Amino acid sequence: MLHDTIAAIATPPGEGGIGIVRISGPAALEIAGRLFRPAVAQDWRSGPGYRLYYGYVVDPATGETVDEVLLALMRAPKSYTREDVVEINGHGGIVPLRRILQLVLDYGARLAEPGEFTRRAFLNGRLDLAQAEAILDVIRARTDNGLRIAVEQLRGALSERIGVLRNTVLGVLAEMEAGIDFPEEEDVPQTEADALIGRLQEVADECGRLLAGADAGRVYREGLGVAIVGKPNVGKSSLLNALLREARAIVTDVPGTTRDVIEETVNIRGIPVRLLDTAGLRETEDTVERIGVARTRSVVAEADLVLAVLDAATGITDEDREVLAVAAAKPMLVVINKIDLAPAGITPEAVRAFVKAPVLRMAVREGVGLDKLEETIAELVLGGHVAGRDPILVSNVRHKNALERARRHLDEARAALAGGWPLELAAIDVRNALDALGEITGTTVSDDLLDRIFGDFCIGK
Ligand code: GDP
Repeated sequence: MLHDTIAAIATPPGEGGIGIVRISGPAALEIAGRLFRPAVAQDWRSGPGYRLYYGYVVDPATGETVDEVLLALMRAPKSYTREDVVEINGHGGIVPLRRILQLVLDYGARLAEPGEFTRRAFLNGRLDLAQAEAILDVIRARTDNGLRIAVEQLRGALSERIGVLRNTVLGVLAEMEAGIDFPEEEDVPQTEADALIGRLQEVADECGRLLAGADAGRVYREGLGVAIVGKPNVGKSSLLNALLREARAIVTDVPGTTRDVIEETVNIRGIPVRLLDTAGLRETEDTVERIGVARTRSVVAEADLVLAVLDAATGITDEDREVLAVAAAKPMLVVINKIDLAPAGITPEAVRAFVKAPVLRMAVREGVGLDKLEETIAELVLGGHVAGRDPILVSNVRHKNALERARRHLDEARAALAGGWPLELAAIDVRNALDALGEITGTTVSDDLLDRIFGDFCIGK
């Protein structure tokens, strides 16, 4: 499979200044050579890598010029895939790029599968798996902080740390296996067992430190779903608008008019936040409104964080109690709105009588309390971990799960050693921990997992 030559359009569909057809594999130069006519006659195919050549793509069958292009040549192993790579930089239009791609396929390349270029980069050892995944995170980053975490991972910060941990575990395993191989030493001396336990403990602790920031990392990478709920007219749309800082939802005096779920992403302190505005939670005969109520419940179910809005002027009503009860299923933040109308309205203590949650007093329409709200959301979901301040933030759930498994196996190995169990048993746990860590960087990895990871990529990446 690695011996064929693959090609794809590497730039997004639509109009752009340039568009790129990427070719990778042993026949990349030969195929490009059939189609490319350099403007200045030269034997570009024997030229060095990292060069650009100016010329035209010409259909060899008809002699028709398809596009004016720059051809980039990157020779193996100094290329994205470590294979010979040719990138044809044409004009960024759908028709010219498709024509160029079709010619490349006609002359012997195969259409690349999603993520196949990066998969080859991984299989050829240019990147490990965590770095390959980081490429997609860089592409999909929605805030500067998300990008920062992804680029650190791409540079290999996480891989390096995992490598150090694996080495320690490998060292322990080697000593244990030496002990296993010489069964005449029946028992491991306690001092030696203690030393092994201590080293495994260090690794487990470091797994714990990495795991501590994983929820924050995930929020930066995947975003945070926030539902704004409350009875009609409390100021949900106003709050949404204030957070969006643009008028997207309809703000109105008529109760219950925000009927559609509107989803918008905003950047709150570097966190990509998806805001879900919903109809009120009011029980009503109105069918449309009831759809809204049902939807509110389902939006709460989907949300990572719920902002429950109360109206200081009305006090806490039965409807509010119902809202709070539904919202309490999720991490929640209670907003007492319209304190401009009723400065002495609902007190935080009155709210806390119903729910255990941070309570904020706001006048959304007047812009009072917004900063504090953003700060509280960030504190609540990041738990003190901040991109750029933590040297490494694990952001991928796959990595988090692997770290958790590694830590569990390490704990089991320590327990086995401490309990004087046969070394073979503890060694099994140590090996499992090693495998779990190896899954992060792809040292131990199945084809299924690779299919899943690279299947998420776009074609051409
Ligand atoms: P929703 O039905 O919960 O989405 O509420 P809206 O956002 O549509 O707001 C209902 C009404 O309350 C509108 O007239 C808003 O201008 C008003 N409102 C929103 N926030 C405040 C506030 O902080 N103070 C005052 N006095 N009015 C507000």
